[in-house]
Amino acid sequence: MPVESIFPRLEPVLPRVQKPIQYVGGELNSQIKDWDEAEVRWALMYPDAYEVGLPNQGVQILYEILNEREGVLAERTYSVWPDLEAIMREQRIPQFTVDAHRPVAAFDVLGVSFSTELGYTNLLTALDLAGIPLEAADRGEDHPIVLAGGHAAFNPEPIADFLDAAVLGDGEEIALAITEVIREWKAEGRPGGRDELLMRLARSGGVYVPKFFDVTYLPDGRIQRVAPNRPGVPWRVDKHTVMDLDQWPYPKKPLVPLAETVHERFSVEIFRGCTRGCRFCQAGMITRPVRERSITTIGDMVDTGLKESGFQEVGLLSLSSADHSEIGDVAKGLADRYEGTNTSLSLPSTRVDAFNITLANEFSRGGRRSGLTFAPEGGSERMRKVINKMVTEDDLIRTVTTAYENGWRQVKLYFMCGLPTEEDEDVLAIADMAKRVIQAGRDATGRRDIRCTVSIGGFVPKPHTPFQWAAQCDHETVDRRLRALRDALRRDKEYGRSIGLRYHDGQPSIVEGLLSRGDRRVGRIIRAVWEDGGRFDGWSEHFSYERWTACADKALAGEPVDLDWYTVRERDEVEVLPWDHLDAGLDREWLWQDWQDAVDETEVEDCRWTPCYDCGVCPTMGTEIQIGPTGRKLLPLSVV
Ligand code: SF4
Repeated sequence: MPVESIFPRLEPVLPRVQKPIQYVGGELNSQIKDWDEAEVRWALMYPDAYEVGLPNQGVQILYEILNEREGVLAERTYSVWPDLEAIMREQRIPQFTVDAHRPVAAFDVLGVSFSTELGYTNLLTALDLAGIPLEAADRGEDHPIVLAGGHAAFNPEPIADFLDAAVLGDGEEIALAITEVIREWKAEGRPGGRDELLMRLARSGGVYVPKFFDVTYLPDGRIQRVAPNRPGVPWRVDKHTVMDLDQWPYPKKPLVPLAETVHERFSVEIFRGCTRGCRFCQAGMITRPVRERSITTIGDMVDTGLKESGFQEVGLLSLSSADHSEIGDVAKGLADRYEGTNTSLSLPSTRVDAFNITLANEFSRGGRRSGLTFAPEGGSERMRKVINKMVTEDDLIRTVTTAYENGWRQVKLYFMCGLPTEEDEDVLAIADMAKRVIQAGRDATGRRDIRCTVSIGGFVPKPHTPFQWAAQCDHETVDRRLRALRDALRRDKEYGRSIGLRYHDGQPSIVEGLLSRGDRRVGRIIRAVWEDGGRFDGWSEHFSYERWTACADKALAGEPVDLDWYTVRERDEVEVLPWDHLDAGLDREWLWQDWQDAVDETEVEDCRWTPCYDCGVCPTMGTEIQIGPTGRKLLPLSVV
């Protein structure tokens, strides 16, 4: 049956909303496939506004991979702003895809990619607007399977009641595998209905179906056990790891946004995973092991992507791009190839110790010399040992000195506040480091117009990291330390004016902490917040801490747990964590030992360059580290 576009109903109301262009679709490289010819149909959602969601690599990759398959159709949907939401409710316009403006409820799967937990309330808005019951238990045979992916899906328990399923890890292969299961089940005439489809997915061990697991609690509120409640459902759910990224050179045809977005460049992921072992970094832990794309694939992807999109900037993405074993050759090869054109290169994340100025010079050959960003993360040497960020202040000063000597005037430093074991002086040490950076710049250049911007985020302990057991720092302490740092900088006559300070208050981090390490009971809070009007919690102008605390008090009344219990409480080794049945490959004992090492200020090396220290990932997942150098070179190509 054809499904009608809702655009004739949407178009007349668009003049009444902000940035209507974001709802129109038709971007370069977007696709509209025939509805009736498709056997399996995916609606892919990024649960934030178009300007944040469109550049998301995960969604773009799956969109392309699924649409490339015959008989499979994928369209995109994003969160609508509250102004359009109100009109959609008034005029009964359902949540729609931006490609063919089809109602989301008509698809087989609604796949939602969560980079952050603060998108949970936006999921509920989309479900409600789509006419899909919020709770999975209330859904009928014709409703889509609501499936979560992305980093937050490594603990989907707080939204377990709203999900039919979740997948952990790389999406490329599992999205196709799920498609095949659905295709087969539909071709067989949907035997056993929705329940049987979910059973087929769950039985594989690679798809988590929350309703097939029961959670029981101890009288004190801790989890007693999480166990499958159906025969054939494995006790643990595995993450997915794509082992040869050269086989998956996506996106080939990047989407070019119509409206302004947070990134307007072609991004190529040059490797996945990170084994540096920064203890706060969930992304690094859950994406192990390191798998590099080869220099030739990177070169081909850049060439194709630029031709297909017309972008003039290339971003080389990864968790720590300067760590690619051939980054020097990649940078030089691309800089040579695009010299004299308008194409510029950027390297979003730069570690202090991996950075070298030759590389920075290659990247800025096109003439653009914007600020350099380094992330020491901890202000004091002691703090950096705790978090395993192995960079000394002297390393940083050496690096920034060379940068200033080479013409840079602006350096940005990124830190976290509220780290485990942190004391006031660890945060005040940030001011000392920034002053040394300014002085190094002045000495290197003989100039006074040297700037340094210090940017500080609140630390949130995350599942599947050594800090998963840690007590989160309360927001009052975080705010007090940040104020003391600000005052120390303001008081400083010699350097204060050269140092900019950016930070947010600590309250949103507490809510993120609740959602990150929460269990199924937290779902009640999310629902209450959403019913009370909570939307776009990642945006400071929409976030309300008072709403979250009031809803937490109400939703958890009568329970032995509260907001503090989920956030500022330290867990012990034997406590069953809500995500223990979801397997990121990391050995629990190794994680615990790494947590003890953190407290003892003991560092671990990167297993790319030292022997394996048995974090568990490679043997558990049947994977291995894949790094170069390949020894190949990039060929100059004719430039469009
Ligand atoms: S198992 Fe060993 S080699 Fe593999 S990621 Fe862990 S420490 Fe590194």
